[in-house]
Amino acid sequence: MNIQYAQLLNCQVCPQNCRVNRYETTGFCKADYRLKINLAHLHHGEEPVLSGTNGSGTIFFSHCNLRCVFCQNYTISHLGWGTYYNEEECAQIMLKLQEAGAHNINLVSPTQYTPQLVQSIKMAKSNGLEIPVLWNSNGYENVSSLQSLSGLIDIYLPDFKYAHSFYSKKYSSAKDYPEIAINALEEMFKQVGHLQLDSNGIAKKGLIVRHLVLPNRISGTKEVLYMLYEHFGPELALSLMAQYYPTGQANEFFELNRGLRKEEYEEAVETVEALGFKNLYLQQLYNSPEWTPDFQPHSEVFNGKKLHFKGKI
Ligand code: SF4
Repeated sequence: MNIQYAQLLNCQVCPQNCRVNRYETTGFCKADYRLKINLAHLHHGEEPVLSGTNGSGTIFFSHCNLRCVFCQNYTISHLGWGTYYNEEECAQIMLKLQEAGAHNINLVSPTQYTPQLVQSIKMAKSNGLEIPVLWNSNGYENVSSLQSLSGLIDIYLPDFKYAHSFYSKKYSSAKDYPEIAINALEEMFKQVGHLQLDSNGIAKKGLIVRHLVLPNRISGTKEVLYMLYEHFGPELALSLMAQYYPTGQANEFFELNRGLRKEEYEEAVETVEALGFKNLYLQQLYNSPEWTPDFQPHSEVFNGKKLHFKGKI
């Protein structure tokens, strides 16, 4: 067993530090030792530098190491809908997405599978994967796990969700989220630096941080933006997201049970502009689920470009 897989025997892959043997049981994330995928397709709804004209080759992994009550991918992150694939099959999916014209391989919610994905990415690269590989995570990650990805990931796309631990504990089950996430972002930045685009305006390397503005200032947006500015300066590529709508278990929380208001997003935009962030991605307010991929209970891997992967490849 190589050192990557040995980590699964006493799992501390992420900051939940469950110390469980994932060959026998599961920890907080509910992922065992096998890669589980819900969906792979060409996604056109990411930031324009990622989706481009052909789409981002997105692979959605099942389970998650956070438990956000408002998760927009609730069925796969909390309920774990998906199908098991081994590392080689996952590498083949990456290569199929490249063949289909994807601008990048976009690994969504990958953290709990870091050791397995190190192997998969290496396999895909040794079999001809050339497009950038993108790590699309919630930001709640160990620096040591991220270090194992150094040289394999071209673009990091983490969230920075909360400024205040009170809210990160209450709504995502991670009291230490703010400090853990800022350390994780520092490591990502160390590996890839600021965002770089190719001659067609498509991302080829760098860090893009996403922040979803939550209602009632729950995300601490102003403080988040100041922290990001202080750590990374105004060159940081920043995606300020307005797409919040109550889903998952959000309706159990009065303060989260409505869409974002125009003035709440405007306040966030005013702050980024006042701070002088130069590489900004902003959204229209659209408070509806229509932008969220429609995950099916047993959907096999497929993509939206008439490449239909039925069952295992
Ligand atoms: S990856 Fe899963 S099992 Fe491992 S420490 Fe994190 S939450 Fe626990």
